Amino acid sequence: MTSPREWLASHPAPQRQARPKSMEISYSQINSFMRCPWLYKTVYVDRKRPPLHPASSLGISIHRALEAYHRGGGGELGKLLDCYDANWSHAGFATAQEQMAWHQKGQRILERYFGQEIERRSEIVAVEKDFLFPLDCHVVRGTIDRIDRLPEGEIEVIDYKSHLDMVGEEEAAQNLQLGMYGMGVRESLGYEAAFLTLYYVAAGKKVTVKYDPARDEEIGELIVRVADHIVYAKGFKPETGCCPQCDFRKTCAHSAAKDDALK
Ligand code: SF4
Repeated sequence: MTSPREWLASHPAPQRQARPKSMEISYSQINSFMRCPWLYKTVYVDRKRPPLHPASSLGISIHRALEAYHRGGGGELGKLLDCYDANWSHAGFATAQEQMAWHQKGQRILERYFGQEIERRSEIVAVEKDFLFPLDCHVVRGTIDRIDRLPEGEIEVIDYKSHLDMVGEEEAAQNLQLGMYGMGVRESLGYEAAFLTLYYVAAGKKVTVKYDPARDEEIGELIVRVADHIVYAKGFKPETGCCPQCDFRKTCAHSAAKDDALK
């Protein structure tokens, strides 16, 4: 995806009305619009859900299991696996055998996660925590997977990722979602984040960077610019460069990757 700076340079601010239109906007909306405005329309205007496939379904199950487990105060591995079974998503599998294989894969991921949890020295202060704050004439909202307090008292904001496509520290430091979460905890929840973490649970690895408030201005400008483009959009244009990675590529009328296999 293009960087905030590149996107801002190629998308000048639209003319606002005397009384500016406003909207509530999240990272997912911004990400969809920046990738392909038609994708934004498909999901947030037409309200179509992307078809589930084994990897996305497993991601949902793992997220829900971790939320239920930590909300319940954590505990033994059996409790985590019970949360997994209770929150298992059955959709997106072609056969019962395929579902079974992915369920076992998820179980191995959570067993490793539990092994890392035993070593954890931080205290979990919130899970699936919503934030909401005004920005210019818009409102920014989001949900943070986990907020930890480290032994020295510093706050770590954590986003779980269930895929294996890991980024390095340099890319994580520029990650828009993490930057927005850093702003969200300060503006809405009263915490000052010290660290922002992408926790790749399937790989059992974390990529942690320092929260850099110097990025807030550019991120804020990007959020407002994207929201303005959405509220003043005169139609949503397809950007076919993202079609090979798009969940709607099989059904979208503008898809340039209808025959591509899932990636
Ligand atoms: S398939 Fe391509 S054009 Fe259609 S929504 Fe996805 S990225 Fe946009």
